Amino acid sequence: MTNMELEKLVRPNILALEPYSCARNEFSGVASVWLDANESPFNAPYNRYPDPLQLEVKERLSHLKGVPAESIFLGNGSDECIDLMYRIFCRPGIDNVVAMSPSYGMYEVCASVNDVEYRKVSLNDDFSINFDAMLAAADECTKVMWICSPNNPTGTAASIDDLLDFSKRVNCILVIDEAYIDFSSKGSMLAVLPQMPNVVVMQTLSKAWGSAGVRMGMAFACPAIVSLMNNVKYPYNVNILTQRYALEQLGKSDEIKAHVATLLEQRELLKQQLAALPCVKKIHPTDANFVLVETVDADGIYNYLLDKGVVVRNRNRVEMCLGCLRITVGLPEENLTLINCLKNYGK
Ligand SMILES: *Cc1c(COP(=O)(O)O)cnc(C)c1O
Repeated sequence: MTNMELEKLVRPNILALEPYSCARNEFSGVASVWLDANESPFNAPYNRYPDPLQLEVKERLSHLKGVPAESIFLGNGSDECIDLMYRIFCRPGIDNVVAMSPSYGMYEVCASVNDVEYRKVSLNDDFSINFDAMLAAADECTKVMWICSPNNPTGTAASIDDLLDFSKRVNCILVIDEAYIDFSSKGSMLAVLPQMPNVVVMQTLSKAWGSAGVRMGMAFACPAIVSLMNNVKYPYNVNILTQRYALEQLGKSDEIKAHVATLLEQRELLKQQLAALPCVKKIHPTDANFVLVETVDADGIYNYLLDKGVVVRNRNRVEMCLGCLRITVGLPEENLTLINCLKNYGK
């Protein structure tokens, strides 16, 4: 995609936007007396506004992910990155997006908030993506396509080759949400990002990095798209506490890898144990840290587990997920508690 082609996808008001400029951007490094931002001189370091572009965190991420810092955007969770796609590309009441379905609920919620038509395209019966149907659902007002791989709630991941091919057939922004990529046997699209100028890959600290509470999401894309995201976001969208914590946590990638390995072992064990239960009809293949399980009675089992103090996610009313519960892989003892409860279900 050339800059011209990208500009055609951007809302005219965003293209014309004069972004807010903070003194901190312009003079950091040179100055030692800060009397520009009406901050308090007391209570360092929290008295100062945070780095609006989070450059230290991006440097660390750049090494970790093999992506240049100018291709990285950081947000207040992936949720901010998702919302920004609508605010940058979709004219309210005019444009539309196309999304695989079922998938992550926030894509549709943000579409509604931004008054953007949300076109759902059902997955194939084996939960693979129906790429042709997604293309057929698009028209000249389609600005964004949503793909989640591994997908929530199905757990299914697409191959790098299929996604790369699809990105070349798509005439708009293609978002690939990789929130669960660290648990997947399929590789990340980051390896081929330079070949996909219209693609935004999203990741998060909320899952494998064990940091849902600190709210940091990442988007990886060509510098032109990242720059649009920077212009539209709140200037200080990632606070000092989160930036400091993220730097620390990103230095612990060995520890995180060990946690992921433990969760993958537990996932396989959980699948075996679930498969042996009479109340379980089918366990869907998964590339994530959860399992979608088809049961004999999703509502009944969900309420029975709640009564025992075990909370899972009831997906019974979700398209293609009739009878299904989505179960997150927890600590060994938590998974055991779940299995022991289910063994007694109906007795
Ligand atoms: C959990 C999840 C996220 C994470 O969102 P954050 O705002 O970063 O916590 C993003 N996408 C999908 C599909 C998820 O399941």
